Amino acid sequence: MLNWQELEEKCQSCTACPLCETRHNVVFGVGDRNADVMFVGEGPGEQEDLKGEPFVGPAGQLLDDMLSIIDIDRTNCYIANIVKCRPPRNRDPQEPEQDACIGYLRNQFALIRPKVVVCLGRIAALRLISPDYRITREHGQWTQRSGIWFTALYHPSALLRDPSKRPETFDDLLSLREKLKELGLRS
Ligand code: SF4
Repeated sequence: MLNWQELEEKCQSCTACPLCETRHNVVFGVGDRNADVMFVGEGPGEQEDLKGEPFVGPAGQLLDDMLSIIDIDRTNCYIANIVKCRPPRNRDPQEPEQDACIGYLRNQFALIRPKVVVCLGRIAALRLISPDYRITREHGQWTQRSGIWFTALYHPSALLRDPSKRPETFDDLLSLREKLKELGLRS
C-alpha cells in the first residue's frame, strides 16, 4: 500500500491505460482523508477533466445540494471515481480501463478505511457492489462487505436528465443518514 503522497504522485503520472492520452488532468479525489463515508462515481466528465476535481459543474452542484440535505459536504466525506481520467465523449469507462485504474481506488479505501461507501450510478455499483447490480431496482439497498457498508444512488447526471427519479433519491439520502446514525457516525 502506498501512502497518500506516493499514491497521488503515481496516479498523476499514470499511463497505464489509453485514457491518459486524452486527459487534461488526472482527477485523483477530494475531501477528508479520514472520512467515514466515501462517494464513488464512474469517472470524470468534461468539467472535472478541466479542473482536476471530481463532481464539478451542474452534476457536482446537484450532488452538493443532495448531500447538504443530510449535512454532508466536501469537508466531511471523500469523493472519488472508478477511473481517474476522463473517458472521451463521457462514454462509460471500459472494463480494461477500470481494471487498470481500480488499484488507485483500492489504495484510497485502504488509507481512508471508510465505514460507508456510496456508489454514484450504475457503473460504480456494478464494480463495487455486484457485477449484476440493477440500479433501478436496487438503489438505496444496503450490503456489507469486509466490514464496509455499501449502497448506491442514482448518478447526479441521471437525475439532471430525469428529475422524476429525485423523490426516490431523497428517500435514499434519508436512508444514508439513518445508516450513519445507526453506526454512531452522526448524531
Ligand atoms: Fe492511469 Fe487510471 Fe488514468 Fe488509466 S484512467 S491512465 S489507469 S490514472
